[in-house]
Amino acid sequence: MPLNHLIALQDISAEQINEILELAKVFKEVNERRVKKVPTLKGKTVANFFFENSTRTKTSFEIAAKRLSADVLNLAISTSSVAKGETLIDTIRTIEAMQIDMVVIRHSVSGVPQMLTHNIKSHIINAGDGMHEHPTQGLLDMFTILDKKKKIEGLTVALIGDIAHSRVARSNIWGLKKMGATVRVVGPPTLIPRDIEKLGVEVYNDLEKGIKGADVVNVLRIQLERMKKHLFPTIREYAMLFGVNTTKLKAAKNDCLVLHPGPLNRGIEISPNVADGPQSVIEEQVTNGVAVRMAVLYLLGGGKANEIIG
Ligand code: ASP
Repeated sequence: MPLNHLIALQDISAEQINEILELAKVFKEVNERRVKKVPTLKGKTVANFFFENSTRTKTSFEIAAKRLSADVLNLAISTSSVAKGETLIDTIRTIEAMQIDMVVIRHSVSGVPQMLTHNIKSHIINAGDGMHEHPTQGLLDMFTILDKKKKIEGLTVALIGDIAHSRVARSNIWGLKKMGATVRVVGPPTLIPRDIEKLGVEVYNDLEKGIKGADVVNVLRIQLERMKKHLFPTIREYAMLFGVNTTKLKAAKNDCLVLHPGPLNRGIEISPNVADGPQSVIEEQVTNGVAVRMAVLYLLGGGKANEIIG
């Protein structure tokens, strides 16, 4: 089935995930060339609408689109007519009237990208919606795991920390489960949604037990901006009990990979020694993110996977 929008990994099949990851391998190679550009999306326009802060994702989408030769528009939300009270749909329709092809959107409200698919004509890519999903982050996490471990099926991946508020956690869970990994969620009970077991994950409230024997740990940021009340006594206490440091990491397999979607709260959920240590692939995640987003833009722009990966 051709990909029309990318809203959630919950919505796409293991086959579609595989196709994106295979394509991303090809684009990773393009990004390593001296001339990092292909003409694939020449004449297409990608519009970035970031209603929430972003460093990595926004620049990554911009670079990805430019490397495919698309034109890129970054709407500066705070100086746009959004600030005059224009509705989201009217704003996007206004830009759409200038004949854009794809919309990359980040919004603090879960469900906004899905809602747009019913109201505008462009292809929509969810760049993170509230606490729902961040599909390209899930894909780049899987790409990085695959790149290092050569497989995903059969691996044990522990997601650590603020599961409740993390769209990255949800995209990881849907994606990794579809690809055959065992997924653990590890954190204090107040940061783990009730009934999360129904998604097929194992739940741990003790960091060392949750990390034990893991092939991959994906450490998540504490999302203070999404907490309406205190969900743990103090940051220091959280860091003591759930901060991943070199001692705690010893419980995992020796060759366990450490991922973090960024931005990092060094010394809170992850110690600097682990973030910059030999098991960390955090920078590679950022590098791989461009290739993965190129693959997604390529497919949504009408590109055929078999024209590139045979
Ligand atoms: N950058 C990721 C996101 O936008 C993770 C985070 O902010 O903690 O969801």
